Amino acid sequence: MSTFELIDELEAGELSVEFEGEEPETVLEWAIERFSPRIGVSTALQIDGVAIIDMAYRLDQGIHVFSVDTGRLPAETHVLIDQLRDRYPGLNLEVLAPEEEHVRRMVERKGRDLFRESVENRLLCCNVRKVRPLTRHLATLDAWITGLRRDQWATRTNIRKVEIDHDHGAIVKLNPLAEWTKDEVWDYVRENDVPYHPLYDQGYTSIGCAPCTRAIRPGEADLRSRYDGGRNKTDCKNTCCANQLLRFLSDHRIIRRHEEGNKNRPDLADHRCNCGRILRPLFSKFRKRHHSRFSAL
Ligand code: SF4
Repeated sequence: MSTFELIDELEAGELSVEFEGEEPETVLEWAIERFSPRIGVSTALQIDGVAIIDMAYRLDQGIHVFSVDTGRLPAETHVLIDQLRDRYPGLNLEVLAPEEEHVRRMVERKGRDLFRESVENRLLCCNVRKVRPLTRHLATLDAWITGLRRDQWATRTNIRKVEIDHDHGAIVKLNPLAEWTKDEVWDYVRENDVPYHPLYDQGYTSIGCAPCTRAIRPGEADLRSRYDGGRNKTDCKNTCCANQLLRFLSDHRIIRRHEEGNKNRPDLADHRCNCGRILRPLFSKFRKRHHSRFSAL
């Protein structure tokens, strides 16, 4: 159990206002001081994640860093992990894994590439391989640090630098890069010679599991780099939309019917996925299927 008193919504809001306009390191320094040792940097080893690792390591060489190895990561991600360990001696990087038994049962029932079949299968795969290991790990922390930025997704425009994470036991969620743009992150990485994922140099703009990630073609939106489901076709078959929708629901805490935050939820009506589809019809489908889990918009 935590030996620290966590902050409440009011304090989180005040701190967010206080940190607005401040550099990411200011937020990190405060957070490390306040929550160590029950704080960790969560990274999917994308460009924002390695920038945060560099900043946090400069402040505290023992800072806890964690990343989920879904079992479907590209080989290049493991190369990057080795590079990071070389670059930051003694880096306290923990690689989390899904429960073997859960993966085995899922693969036995639906096949290893189940995500190619339907949105539901993709969500199941992500849940077993990514969400559950992350959730399990977050239960051991009082605060976690992410590389989220407001310019990444339409649903992230309102993220604050200090938040209470109601999806994970009301621990504190810190987004030190919230104000930065993608270019600022890349400038930081280049100026500080931070190792970055080799696939960026092959046209990838977002990197996750190997079968669900590909390089984008000229003119495609950044998100097309992900959630291709291994189809390698022009049509994303709604998998990116499903992910965008779930992010929207999660960001605005409207997954559960009576959850706090519903009052101020934004309207989904004009909200589009980065691939251009309007999300509302997809939400209607989800709501019918998971009636008890989704609140009405
Ligand atoms: S990104 Fe693809 S392979 Fe990775 S966990 Fe999700 S569905 Fe499975």
